[in-house]
Amino acid sequence: MEVYNHDLIILGTGLAGLRAALEAAQQSKGELDIALVSKLQLMRAHSVAAEGGTAAVMRQDMGDSFELHAWDTVKGSDFLADQDVVDFFVHEMPKEILHLDHWGIPWSRTEDGHIAQRPFGGHTYPRAVFAADKTGHLEMQTLYDTLMKHTKKINRYDEGFVTSILIENNRFAGLTMIDMINGKLVLIRGKALILATGGAGQIFGFTTYSETVTGDGLAMAYRAGLTLKDMEFIQFHPTGLIPSGILMTEACRGEGGTLLNNKDERFMGAYAPSKMELAPRDMVSRSEMTEIEAGRGFPGPEGLDYIHLDLRHLGRKQILERLPLIREVTIKHIGLDPIEKPIPIRPVAHYTMGGVHTDIKGHTPVENIWAAGEVSCVSLHGANRLGSNSTAECLVWGRVAGGEAARYCANASMPEMPKTAEQEWAKIEALIASTGTEDHYQIRKELRKNLDATMGVFRTGEQMEAGLKKIRELKERYKKISLKDKSLRYNTDLERAIETGFMIDVAEVATLGALTRTESRGGHARRDFNVRDDENWLKHTMADYTEAGPKLSYSKVDISMWKPVERKY
Ligand SMILES: Cc1cc2nc3c(=O)[nH]c(=O)nc-3n(C[C@H](O)[C@H](O)[C@H](O)COP(=O)(O)OP(=O)(O)OC[C@H]3O[C@@H](n4cnc5c(N)ncnc54)[C@H](O)[C@@H]3O)c2cc1C
Repeated sequence: MEVYNHDLIILGTGLAGLRAALEAAQQSKGELDIALVSKLQLMRAHSVAAEGGTAAVMRQDMGDSFELHAWDTVKGSDFLADQDVVDFFVHEMPKEILHLDHWGIPWSRTEDGHIAQRPFGGHTYPRAVFAADKTGHLEMQTLYDTLMKHTKKINRYDEGFVTSILIENNRFAGLTMIDMINGKLVLIRGKALILATGGAGQIFGFTTYSETVTGDGLAMAYRAGLTLKDMEFIQFHPTGLIPSGILMTEACRGEGGTLLNNKDERFMGAYAPSKMELAPRDMVSRSEMTEIEAGRGFPGPEGLDYIHLDLRHLGRKQILERLPLIREVTIKHIGLDPIEKPIPIRPVAHYTMGGVHTDIKGHTPVENIWAAGEVSCVSLHGANRLGSNSTAECLVWGRVAGGEAARYCANASMPEMPKTAEQEWAKIEALIASTGTEDHYQIRKELRKNLDATMGVFRTGEQMEAGLKKIRELKERYKKISLKDKSLRYNTDLERAIETGFMIDVAEVATLGALTRTESRGGHARRDFNVRDDENWLKHTMADYTEAGPKLSYSKVDISMWKPVERKY
């Protein structure tokens, strides 16, 4: 086993990880020795796929305000967001947009030179700042370029697949990592850890997420004793391309795109008359499913019946200028030009609102671990996230966590050499040597299909119970898998197998949380309990690991600004 020592370890190099690294480098004037660890090449984090925009109040002179952004976020969250967190967030965001601007990002501009903003679902003001439809990609590039200008003390561990987080004596003590390139087992020690491993979209079969987004950090944190919060809240984005699930960004509707059923009707008028297609995602997804179930969709492949997303009336110029990637993707993947024809879409699993429980500063209860970005649950999004608030969250809490962790490192000592790394290696060696009869690829396939069937846009107790039973069966079968590749170098067979184990844990926590929550709120819509129940369920679900499965408890929601009211759009 090789051992590497650094001051600060940042696990994950998406928007949250890079923003954290930059802040830590700036705060320490380039003195902090930072490890950046990613199972992918650095720029391949899912964040590069973010298309539509990043929310911030930029035009108070034109009628936007912090209060309005906060209210939209709280109402969008179906009142499960912590309002003190939301308030902090909306005030911090404009600074992040300006930082990126000064660092050179090519924000799209208005004719008079202002940073342009476009409408996004659930926002009462056009608040999404964007760079065409390649926003995440350009944010990532700008952050990385700027990081390189601020420090030489960056140690990149690209294609380093982390298998566990070691916490000993209630302190982070190190990460176990498989160096995929050189086929080595590595222990990375650090004074502090920032967890920035993104979400878990791949637990669903029909999803917008890259194949690599398998909930590793969520599962590793959970197994190491950190609490997962509100994991039952999964966001379904209204516009996933048929048949792959590739995202058709909300900017399509922000730019004026409409949704049509098989009678050519703009059906959103019946569900959200004031916001129409730009109602929050949970509502638009439910409306689409209701249309499809009532026979007003179009028949699609493998049961993927669909709705039309119509951009034709925007015209060639606007589509080419504002949505070039969308056009490129539809032409390449389904041979359809949106200038000429409507795009076939339906709701698609998109985002994990829940995550590793942190306080308002992204700090976990373990003194030297912070979490930021999609892996974390600082309780900004509650039961339903508004579009463009996620890249924004990565920027704000990347910066906060980076600064906090850097200050901590300045005065902290290196934790003792961890004693539990050997146990982790023993597990991996046993997995490589295993001779079981189960195929882990098959298990992953069944898991994803199961979540599609039981944890979708609409849920019932009966379905979720069956879903949980199936997950537990898969968990048992997983104990009997074997690997074909017995080496360590670029052993993607091993990597996939470990990821599938992570996915099973995440799916179990999400499904148990959903089954237990007997109400409908935001992204969690139950047919058997179809109203919100503030009396009993205005609370966060907390899940802790035990040998026998997740142990649930509940915690308070901050409603210091607004009392919950009925959510109408
Ligand atoms: C197609 C798409 C479009 C989107 N568009 C928008 C948008 O327009 N606006 C918006 O606000 N939000 C959008 N979102 C959501 C938003 O992009 C994500 O929530 C956000 O980018 C997540 O960033 P992150 O830094 O938390 O994680 P990610 O960018 O997912 O990065 C995770 C990192 O963790 C690393 N990692 C994970 N597991 C391991 C492991 N075991 N070992 C080592 N490294 C590991 C990965 O290699 C990667 O570097 C979109 C999402 C998708 C999928």
